[in-house]
Amino acid sequence: MTTSTPPPQDLLYSVRMRASHQGRHVSGAEDLVAPENAAATAARFAERALATASFDDLRLRIEPLREPPTAVSLLPLFTVEVPAREAVKTTLELLERAGVSRQAAEMAYLTLSEGAAGGGTNMRGAMLVDAISGVRLEADHGRGIRASRYGVTEALRDALHAALEKAGYGHHRTTEAWVLSAKMAAAPGAVAELCFSDDPNYTTGYVAIAGLAYVRLPHLKAVGDPHGGRALFLSPDSDPQAVATWLEKTPCLITDLSTINPPAPLNTIVGALRR
Ligand code: AMP
Repeated sequence: MTTSTPPPQDLLYSVRMRASHQGRHVSGAEDLVAPENAAATAARFAERALATASFDDLRLRIEPLREPPTAVSLLPLFTVEVPAREAVKTTLELLERAGVSRQAAEMAYLTLSEGAAGGGTNMRGAMLVDAISGVRLEADHGRGIRASRYGVTEALRDALHAALEKAGYGHHRTTEAWVLSAKMAAAPGAVAELCFSDDPNYTTGYVAIAGLAYVRLPHLKAVGDPHGGRALFLSPDSDPQAVATWLEKTPCLITDLSTINPPAPLNTIVGALRR
């Protein structure tokens, strides 16, 4: 006879939702919560997908963590004031300042804007890119690496929403992207991250500079553009397998808020980062 031991009650649960339509990912969400909040969180995710997405398959997963989460920090948030026609140039400049070569930055931007899975299709996860050579390092170019098992403490959740709302960034995508970028930037060997959504109506993208800043760029893509994705730039000596394990498996929890700075021109932001 086999016996199963129930998980200790002080461990958190990973709650994940994924909705797809004809095999294409249309909505997803995840968080780490106390056991008694797992069911309500799953219901909240399902309600959101039901209200916003058209899908033929919705999966909810509730899984007790097998290890305590590692604490990671939100990066200070900046928003660069830049007209749409200069957004790509500014993105490339920010990536170069982070230590990404021009060649790697341009390759990643162009690949994401055409659909990084090939044939005009977006990836489900992120590209891993050598920050100097621009070579793609993820094993499966169609799928990419999907970060999972991350979230914020119960105590931070409401404060995070309230702070972003007060700053005028109440969109759920802003919260989710800022939280996810904390795990991405803490990956071993991470230099920077580039992201823009595949939501045709959400045009703000960001460049995260590991250890320094999360810089939002409104109008990084045009309204109606269905392409988007994430590229995580790694130092040339990093181990892509260790990065994949960190992103996919290692639970990460954010406990504290970070600074939310008012929109500013690029020079002001670069000056603030130098200090
Ligand atoms: P979103 O910000 O949800 O619109 O996602 C934009 C793109 O980022 C998606 O097309 C995926 O390529 C990628 N992505 C979304 N969620 C994750 C994740 N958890 N881990 C890695 N990449 C992701």
